[in-house]
Amino acid sequence: MAPTQTFSRRLLRWFDQHGRKDLPWQRDTSPYRVWVSEIMLQQTQVRTVIPYYERFMTRFPDVEALAAAPTDEVLHLWTGLGYYARARNLHRAAQQVCEQHGGEFPASVEALETLPGIGRSTAGAIASIAFQQRAPILDGNVKRVLARHQGVAGWPGETAVHRALWQLAEQYTPKTRVADYTQAIMDLGATLCTRSRPRCEQCPLQADCSARAEGRQADFPGKKPRKVLPVRDTVFLIVRDAAGDVLLQKRPPSGIWGGLWCFPELADAADAGNWCLDRFGREPATICAGTAFRHTFSHYHLDIQPLQAQLDATPAAIMAASDQLWYKMAQPPQIGLAAPVARLLATL
Ligand code: SF4
Repeated sequence: MAPTQTFSRRLLRWFDQHGRKDLPWQRDTSPYRVWVSEIMLQQTQVRTVIPYYERFMTRFPDVEALAAAPTDEVLHLWTGLGYYARARNLHRAAQQVCEQHGGEFPASVEALETLPGIGRSTAGAIASIAFQQRAPILDGNVKRVLARHQGVAGWPGETAVHRALWQLAEQYTPKTRVADYTQAIMDLGATLCTRSRPRCEQCPLQADCSARAEGRQADFPGKKPRKVLPVRDTVFLIVRDAAGDVLLQKRPPSGIWGGLWCFPELADAADAGNWCLDRFGREPATICAGTAFRHTFSHYHLDIQPLQAQLDATPAAIMAASDQLWYKMAQPPQIGLAAPVARLLATL
């Protein structure tokens, strides 16, 4: 039998001996649990995901509990994981599963793909792991394994490369033990065929791996063409009242940090006094600048200048607004915070 035909067989044999089988989402492979793990694992490593996953499952043990939760609480449990659109989509998809599917996940890849935040690969993972269907997946780990093994050149973000990798993913997915195969190929990418310094000498695919034969593991998959990120500036106004509580505002549901709580933003630090005068009818007792720092998004850098404004009273008007609150440092409310806001609050 040609080595390429034994691809899944070798992978499964390796998985039986060395694969991880005791991760929290492998113990119970219900569609809900597999789905939450797959969303959390997008762009985030297993080690980081585990405590978030366990807290999430304790608070939201099933899709109904998640669907019924306030968005603020979902985002609160996501704080620190980043890519918050994932959490907002997770919440919306849970509501859709309850409203349109009677609380049961649909079993086909096509129906799963209609849920917010579920693309073809995540749908394939749920269909194969939870429903034992022959559905290929192509997450970051799988792309790396296939690109190296088959020597597929080019950045997987390009349509032709993407298509070629999907074709290979389909070709190699076996008809039997598909759930184990899905776990196995993700595991191989996460533990042996790692981004840097892959451990090829332990790999079950080494005999016919194109990248290994040529010593070109670092060339696959191809890198995204580099572009220089633009830089934007903002001022975070950290307003504290007489009790030491901090004013936060809820951001609109979409866009950067959508639905999360942030400090008020100003275009210019010189506007801080007037901003407080407009809102509270008085200027702050003191204004002092903190250390500026950079937060990088996938498409731009944001240079943030923190500015602390101390009030000598607690203005009543703010208490009534639903998209603003005084954040109590001693008893923090259960809300989602943008990462740099959480970081600044921790320093106060
Ligand atoms: S031999 Fe090395 S590069 Fe090839 S699939 Fe295995 S770990 Fe990856």
